[in-house]
Amino acid sequence: MGLLYRREVDQFAAAHQSSQAAYARADHLFGRVPMTWMNKLASGFPIYLDRAIGNRVFDIDGHEYIDFALGDTGAMAGHSPAPTVAAIQQRIVTQGGLTTMLPTTDAEWVGAELTRRFGAAKWSFSLTATDANRWAIRLVRALTDRPRILFNAYCYHGSVDESLIVVGPDGNGIDRPGNVGAPVPVTATSRVAEFNDLAGLERQLAHGDVAAVLMEPALTNIGIVVPEPGYLAGVRDLTRRYGALLINDETHTFSAGPGGATAAWGLEPDIVIIGKSIGGGIPCGAYGLSEELADRALRRTDLDLVDMGGVGGTLAGNPLSVAAMRATLEHVLTEAAFEHMIALATRFTADVQQVIDEYRLPWSVSQLGARTEYRFADPAPRNGTESAASADPLLEDYLHVYLANRGILLTPFHNMALMCPVTGAADVARHHEVFAAAVASLFG
Ligand code: PMP
Repeated sequence: MGLLYRREVDQFAAAHQSSQAAYARADHLFGRVPMTWMNKLASGFPIYLDRAIGNRVFDIDGHEYIDFALGDTGAMAGHSPAPTVAAIQQRIVTQGGLTTMLPTTDAEWVGAELTRRFGAAKWSFSLTATDANRWAIRLVRALTDRPRILFNAYCYHGSVDESLIVVGPDGNGIDRPGNVGAPVPVTATSRVAEFNDLAGLERQLAHGDVAAVLMEPALTNIGIVVPEPGYLAGVRDLTRRYGALLINDETHTFSAGPGGATAAWGLEPDIVIIGKSIGGGIPCGAYGLSEELADRALRRTDLDLVDMGGVGGTLAGNPLSVAAMRATLEHVLTEAAFEHMIALATRFTADVQQVIDEYRLPWSVSQLGARTEYRFADPAPRNGTESAASADPLLEDYLHVYLANRGILLTPFHNMALMCPVTGAADVARHHEVFAAAVASLFG
């Protein structure tokens, strides 16, 4: 494996000399990259982007890639979809007014559309899903007068300090290994339970100090871990029984369908979080409150929602990002698009399963609508801790570089593939061919 990996890395380096040189010159960037995540490297240096359109990425060395990473969901609508670009141009070139702290009429359209899709009655915008989560956390603490938020181990909801908690040896929470600069020990603000563990959840809720459970309906940031039958209904029952609110973060599980897992699986959260994809690449995020919760908040005269409630920042809800959300929801991430994307992901998943079966690999593949991911464990992990334990960094890097050398991008930090509205059957077939060859090079 080590030798095969070296060979792929050498081939990558020889073919990406412009990217390698640009990285070597980036002396004024912390870690040589514009954002530290871009140092999640399978190959020693990042591919530098030249341009991207649809499901294709082109690098500065002249290579073209089929992009199954799609900016880790930020580009789920495809790169620069025409209706979103037209709306952006209209706002930038024709109308002007990129950020003004004044509302535009597009915002109510987007709110109504998100209500139609996700059910939550009242919406507010941020610029990232992280900020939407932060705002929701402050709000549920204020409304319940309880201090703690409960998370699933190995969840990801952005750089939200409260969420960086895992299950320790005694079943209670401990700081997630590697966390950077926690303001207080995480157990002061948070509780934790494993995904798919209703008994563990109940033990934690029984303390009576949990304001809300903040979770993804399926874990998507430690592989995809799907809910077992009855689990999500059980979570909703337990939260109601113990007086905790339920926040569903649909930032990634939106791949389940046009109304995310909320609509696809008939969920009833008190708050829905969404971000990344719905702006078609323009920074955005949103949180949606149930009618009842919104009323409760607005009745609280002791809360200064106008001034102190404005998490998400000065530029949140700006005309550009709202115009981009409207165009993307109205014309790009439509019901028909989801049907196409989910059909392709189903094909992709079957192809990966076929290779796993052919070589009798102890791997598994899990699909969540338009998104699919394989893990080096069989059966598929049932929770975040099991999934984290199945990681194999060298194997993962090998597959990523092998695929990149043959024109295919997978999502860094994952073995994840996401379909966009213009991904085609030929792209999925090409992945199958290359993935099968990669596995054959290891086990053939
Ligand atoms: N929630 C979930 C479920 C996510 O996957 C992510 C990002 N991967 C976030 C929140 C944070 O989104 P952003 O980076 O836009 O803040």
